[in-house]
Amino acid sequence: MNTIYLDNAATTAVSPEVLQAMLPYFTEHYGNPSSVHATGRDARKAIEAARRQVAAAIGADPAEIYFTAGGSESDNWAIKGAAFMNRRKGNHIITTAIEHHAVLHTCGWLEKQGFEVTYLPVDAEGRVTPEQVEAAITDKTILITIMAANNEIGTLEPIAEIGKIAKAHKILFHTDAVQAVGAIPLDVKAMNIDMLSMSAHKFHGPKGIGVLYIRKGVRIDTLIHGGAQERGQRAGTENLAGIVGLGKAIEIATTDLPAKAARLSALRDRLIDGILERVPDVRVNGPREGRLPNNANVSVRYIEGESMLLRLDLAGIAASSGSACTSGSLDPSHVLLAIGLPHEVAHGSLRMTLGSETTEAEIDRVLEVLPGIISDLRSMSVLNKDTSTVTDEVFYHGKK
Ligand SMILES: *Cc1c(COP(=O)(O)O)cnc(C)c1O
Repeated sequence: MNTIYLDNAATTAVSPEVLQAMLPYFTEHYGNPSSVHATGRDARKAIEAARRQVAAAIGADPAEIYFTAGGSESDNWAIKGAAFMNRRKGNHIITTAIEHHAVLHTCGWLEKQGFEVTYLPVDAEGRVTPEQVEAAITDKTILITIMAANNEIGTLEPIAEIGKIAKAHKILFHTDAVQAVGAIPLDVKAMNIDMLSMSAHKFHGPKGIGVLYIRKGVRIDTLIHGGAQERGQRAGTENLAGIVGLGKAIEIATTDLPAKAARLSALRDRLIDGILERVPDVRVNGPREGRLPNNANVSVRYIEGESMLLRLDLAGIAASSGSACTSGSLDPSHVLLAIGLPHEVAHGSLRMTLGSETTEAEIDRVLEVLPGIISDLRSMSVLNKDTSTVTDEVFYHGKK
């Protein structure tokens, strides 16, 4: 039985074309790109070709693309680098309560170094407004860092509008676009983005390779010190095969993006609508419009997300109960709490994220299996209409 893999927000399969593009760079073309001999020069050429592929995908210049070891490093570098470079100008950073931990924990560490961070609250669907961002700006603000798309509930943030505000106030704007690259169109110039993080393994590339886009003229401190790689800004012998894989993966992911996004959105809606039709007492987390094409997130009343996961796993379906980073811990997701869900409801959440290989038949299989699992678990649950502290009003937040 093939696994139905619906955890593409956690990581994706490396696509066959990406793997094929990478293989020669482990064997034939293994040179160090800093070497002057022909083997080294071949490696250098491959890296610069990948840099052009990335730049083309987000409307940047190749000279604005820096390879890193992934999304977490890119977030750390952008935020710490901007904070320390600008600390004479000010010490205030604006972000949101629903960022990935790579952003939140970096901001938390900076608070210990004397920086001040505003964590903007979000509405019931996970959105911040440009007005909130503008109102939080002080004469000490040096950085705004707000994600393009949320990894748990799929909410798309108004990045272009926030970019406009940041530009008008001459404040650096970084966006964690790890979930957005390859899912929605991105143009760093049109959106006034100064720095953007991405990670190959979220768009069918390999793990351990990412990019930080840094707009020309923006200067941030170095995070990884050492050799002169990446124009002296990020030391370490380049992850050659990884970089080649990232380049190929982003090229594939952004080719015919609107058609691919439309296909996934239709499957996503088939999944969400199918669950709502077949299972009573389910709420959708995140907006119906303005959400990632591949993200479905629901809370199922009276039962635990973890128990649904285990039962789905037995049925050959891979899903998630929130973010992979928080599952295994008993704390409910900070994102679900930030949209106002009580702990009990947050614990009953299930995230299913589609990928380029997901088929309609797989979605239909999930719709066949999931209602039975839920009614089974409900029959065994200690929570029910009489014991639950959560009312209809709380559960549905005014919408059904
Ligand atoms: C996965 C993810 C990251 C971390 O990227 P890694 O490459 O796994 O370090 C950061 N932000 C978001 C929104 C993510 O989904």
